[in-house]
Amino acid sequence: MNATYDDWLQAAASLTPHGEHHIGGADEAGSGARFTVTAPRDGTVLAEVADAGQVEVDLAVSAARRAFDSGPWPRMSPAERGQALLRLADLIEENRSELALTISLEMGKPISDAYNIELRAAVATFRWYGSLADKLADESPHASPDVLALVTREPSGVVGAVVPWNFPLTMAAWKIAPALVSGCTAVLKPSEESPLSALALGRLATAAGLPPGVLNVVCGDGPGTGRALGLHPDVDVLAFTGSTAVGRHFLRYAADSNLKRVWLELGGKSPNIILPDTPDLDQAAQTAAWGIFFNQGEMCTAPSRLLVHSSIADSVIATVVERARALTVGDPLDPATEMGALVSEGHRERVLGYVETGTAEGARLLTGGTRMDGRGYYLAPTVFDRVDPASRLAREEIFGPVLSVISFDDLDEAVELANATEYGLAAGLWTADLSTAHRVSRRLRAGTVWVNCYEEGDLTVPFGGMKQSGHGRDKSAHAIDKYTDLKTTWIQL
Ligand code: NAP
Ligand code: MG
Repeated sequence: MNATYDDWLQAAASLTPHGEHHIGGADEAGSGARFTVTAPRDGTVLAEVADAGQVEVDLAVSAARRAFDSGPWPRMSPAERGQALLRLADLIEENRSELALTISLEMGKPISDAYNIELRAAVATFRWYGSLADKLADESPHASPDVLALVTREPSGVVGAVVPWNFPLTMAAWKIAPALVSGCTAVLKPSEESPLSALALGRLATAAGLPPGVLNVVCGDGPGTGRALGLHPDVDVLAFTGSTAVGRHFLRYAADSNLKRVWLELGGKSPNIILPDTPDLDQAAQTAAWGIFFNQGEMCTAPSRLLVHSSIADSVIATVVERARALTVGDPLDPATEMGALVSEGHRERVLGYVETGTAEGARLLTGGTRMDGRGYYLAPTVFDRVDPASRLAREEIFGPVLSVISFDDLDEAVELANATEYGLAAGLWTADLSTAHRVSRRLRAGTVWVNCYEEGDLTVPFGGMKQSGHGRDKSAHAIDKYTDLKTTWIQL
């Protein structure tokens, strides 16, 4: 990325985001109802976007249903479907700057991260599943000499995908790419905070040659559009990423409608344990700080509970606080910015509410905890120590740049503290001892454990939660399980 701050400002001034639903391979204005999308960097209006009610959700689901029941997509060879996803990956890459800019504008993350991390991940996801298409095979178990038993995978049908605003394109790609490569068709509902990049994705999918109705995008808020999709009797699978509270709604929607299969990637309150034998304490502390402030702390996997051994706590905390104070917070369009704006004023108020709560609960505020200058929704990187493990600050997901430090005296205590949460999405562990790494990793109830690193991974490994962080896995070939049903054919010979 060679563009300068001025380049991005100019590009932003001439960006004309498009705001119609994408249904059946075409833009669709729908009833005419609109909602306003604003830029967290300065609160200005970005676009008026079509708001999907029941009528538009019905249209989108019918388009997906037709494409599944009578369109070419599920009947194409897997290799052909793979080719279409590879073309879509190429088109996303060709439009990388504009898409990165759109995301940075609509949800406030630094343009450098949007361009280098989010867009790279979205392209890689479509490429990986596009390449996987013709490498999957069915099974023929050795049932009996007189029988040919076949276990085949069939696409599950119409997939509803409801995703959050923190990684608008990556979260969509993690659902859409494995669903489509399996032969399903889809209706994507992005968050009302970040619909513009998703609408662009819908258009690119059609430009890449995906048949009409294979990928539909409808926008609107959760209780309206999201609920209509969750309750829809013609949606077979609902893949959701978002909060645990809304995940519960989707289970109820399924129970109250057609028992559609629901997959949940939910919230987290991830522990990051630093043991005294950590080989490079400075790196551990720097990574702890980077982890909680990356993407404004709006990360499901954010290492929001730093569990540090009391013998090294002072030096680790000093490094984390120093890093927090040195962070470049400001306009997301400046390539030098490390932390941008929170997604909305409402969300900033919610995060500040936790600063008040934490202080009232007796935690010690070491740095941050305040709004920052500027017309956008900026918040200073915030660190608390002496956090009571039983307090709300230690237990609830904040989804903002707020770190809670808790110290411990022995390993069992650390593991107990780490697991003392209703969540189980991710965990970090820092140690030089191989046996400790394996033993502790097994004891941590989390879908991902990072040892001597944090937030690492790629498409080859699955991602998802235990406990109330959800179930089912995105990424890797395991994601195919979510969008296919196994069929047994028993042939008596
Ligand atoms: P959210 O409020 O749960 O929203 C997620 C999606 O659900 C959005 O599209 C939202 O639409 C929709 N929604 C909200 N209320 C709904 C309802 N009553 N019925 C149907 N749909 C509804 O979460 P968020 O604030 O966007 O994102 C933050 C959460 O996502 C955090 O808890 C974070 O941990 C989690 N997350 C998890 C992962 C993971 O992979 N495990 C990844 C990223 C984020 P609107 O926004 O338009 O209302
Ligand atoms: Mg917004």
